[in-house]
Amino acid sequence: MPICLAVPNEILPGERRIALDPVVAKKLIELGVDICMQKGAASSAHFKDEQFDGVKLIDTAEELFKNADVIFKVQPPTLDELNMMKDGCVVASFMTPHKSQSLIKRMCEKNITSFAMELVPRITRAQSMDALSSQAGIAGYKGVIMGADKAAVFFPMLTTAAGTIRPARVLIIGAGVAGLQAIATAKRLGAIVEAYDVRSATKEQCESLGAKFVDTGVSADGEGGYARELSDEEKQQQQQVLDKHICLSDVIVTTAAIPGRPSPKIISAEVVANMKVGAVIVDLASEGGGNCELTQPGQNVDFEGRVTILGPLNVASQVPVHASEMYAKNLFNLLSPFIKEAQLELDWEDEVIKNTALTHKGEIVAERYKETQEATS
Ligand code: NAD
Repeated sequence: MPICLAVPNEILPGERRIALDPVVAKKLIELGVDICMQKGAASSAHFKDEQFDGVKLIDTAEELFKNADVIFKVQPPTLDELNMMKDGCVVASFMTPHKSQSLIKRMCEKNITSFAMELVPRITRAQSMDALSSQAGIAGYKGVIMGADKAAVFFPMLTTAAGTIRPARVLIIGAGVAGLQAIATAKRLGAIVEAYDVRSATKEQCESLGAKFVDTGVSADGEGGYARELSDEEKQQQQQVLDKHICLSDVIVTTAAIPGRPSPKIISAEVVANMKVGAVIVDLASEGGGNCELTQPGQNVDFEGRVTILGPLNVASQVPVHASEMYAKNLFNLLSPFIKEAQLELDWEDEVIKNTALTHKGEIVAERYKETQEATS
């Protein structure tokens, strides 16, 4: 019997992505997999059921989960969803492991093998499976578009009969995957772009995309490509230089996150009060509380009619077609090498499988998750 791979409707309000697209469905079918999808599950991502050739459409989540050996999801499964799943099945999804203790416990009780897409190791071989990166790139792009939409100025320089229009000044804070895509997008729209990151390695990357790097003289290079937390003194030095650039900007897109920790506060209320009238901050670090003191995650804040602060959540979901296509491809690239003769045969010696697994055989197996739990307990 071939394995049954199931894709349910995403039930989190506002989630428009889906963990499967017609191209990946076709590839999985070619590997002999039986695919079941909840009826209409892909409609929020603008895919019609008829586009999924050879995929069995199921009416209810209950019926879908009951027979599934492997489940692809975008948002972490809820307790209700886990309860509907077969004991011992495999689930691949974002899991927000640091916020999902009760889910992890339930997955252990049900012997579920879970893969947390946040845990895909950031090694060259795993780039095609790296869903944090694929979705962060989308957020970086969309963040700039949101900023341009709310901006009081044009992005490009324009020479018109009514005079020459100066280009907008855009500052990107945090030059990881989202930040670099934000730089590229703002640059394409014709703005003067500045960028800043605590990791000095990003200077060259920012400059190669046409941004001017703000040099504060502080570096926070951490392990594994992530940033470390800064000392108070370093933060103060960073702040003073950055503040000057913040106050000159028309649009700021902040993307500075520290995985599993609250986002560092980089723009204070005091500095917002000194920003240009009509300026916009798009805080893409809102999921972790935001990089601006005045950010309200999930809301737009109008600061005294002067500065607009956007705190968008789940930004990738606002570009559901491409976000779903990229995410489905990430899942496929992660698990398809282990589908042999229509069966899933996971290789527990494989570095990516070992590191991405969150729970297996009733236990938490993710070393990176266990380390952060120990550090915070
Ligand atoms: P992230 O979302 O964790 O953080 C975003 C950026 O914010 C990072 O560049 C970080 O240095 C920066 N930041 C953190 N605190 C800051 C502060 N106080 N002020 C200013 N900036 C601050 O990062 P990410 O985009 O997921 O990835 C980070 C890096 O990991 C990438 O740029 C890349 O070098 C590396 N990476 C490697 C691979 C791979 O090799 N497979 C894949 C993805 C990412």
